Amino acid sequence: MHVHRRLLNESMTYRARRAQIENRALQFESGRRSSARTGVITIPVVVHVVYNAAEENIDDQQIMSQLDVLNQDFRAANPDVSKVPDVWTSLVADTEIEFGLATKDPLGGPTNGIIRVKTAQSAFDTDDGVKSSATGGSDPWPTDQYLNMWVCQLGGGLLGYAQFPGGPPQTDGVVILHRAFGTSGTAAAPYNGGRTATHEIGHWLDLFHIWGDDDGACSNDDRVADTPNQADANVGAPDFPHVTCNNGPNGDMFMNYMDYTDDAAMFMFTMGQRERIDACLEGARSSFTVASQQAPAAQPAAAAQPAQPAQPAKQPVPAGGVTHDGDVERLLHDSERLTREVLDDIHNMLGLVGHRPSG
Ligand SMILES: [Zn+2]
Repeated sequence: MHVHRRLLNESMTYRARRAQIENRALQFESGRRSSARTGVITIPVVVHVVYNAAEENIDDQQIMSQLDVLNQDFRAANPDVSKVPDVWTSLVADTEIEFGLATKDPLGGPTNGIIRVKTAQSAFDTDDGVKSSATGGSDPWPTDQYLNMWVCQLGGGLLGYAQFPGGPPQTDGVVILHRAFGTSGTAAAPYNGGRTATHEIGHWLDLFHIWGDDDGACSNDDRVADTPNQADANVGAPDFPHVTCNNGPNGDMFMNYMDYTDDAAMFMFTMGQRERIDACLEGARSSFTVASQQAPAAQPAAAAQPAQPAQPAKQPVPAGGVTHDGDVERLLHDSERLTREVLDDIHNMLGLVGHRPSG
């Protein structure tokens, strides 16, 4: 939320795009629009391991353990989904999203989807330094084709952070503390269940914190209809029910991935959250849907020529996809049509969102 607030302050473009994204999400939440996609979407992932101390150079097994968790959690195939209280089992959602390490790099060459970069930085924070080689990090692969995950040392007790859809492409993706990544290697309790990445990718797919980031005021929620309004973040492993904001008898849905509970105490997304994710996958992140539903022919084996300054390589535009230029044009057009209501909404968010030490 710190990054979200910073971008809202810094960038008129981000404010306009967020309003557009929120409009679409509300249409999905209210049932006025629904997803046209059928079947499972697979999102290609590139993992940037940015290490200073040797132990931060986590092994492939730890990375694979994280992918395994994601592919369980986003398919509601995690063993602990059985712990969801009876009153909410009907809300459990299979988002029909899977994640796979990239097999082709941006030029079409073979890759294992893992990049290892040694850095002189002892730790990173939410200033996005880890996302650029110029600041001791690793440059992203095209963020409309890959989910970029940076794994590194983070300062200030931060477990991870993400960028919501609509932000600058050069910093798009999620950042995870190596000790909170995967289930083996350097992963350390109580964050060794791989759920930090599940949570951060939830943000990347446009989910807000389940308590609405209103610091206990009960006045703002997560804009998802089927999650109870709750006061503030839950931590640790609460006992059910935990009632706040007059949300009894069932109370907070603290076992939702978008709360702050321990990895072992969170195990569900809801149908309403899936609606927001679907809106995102047909809007701001539609390039992933288009690519996933095309045959492997969408990724030609012949390597593209490296872009040259005088004659940039022409990027193929997938059917139904958009170029960045098209995005900007659409944005300029849409920004003229923004309603006062939506702008007020954003202003309210600006006023209500508080700084939090972790993403
Ligand atoms: Zn978060």
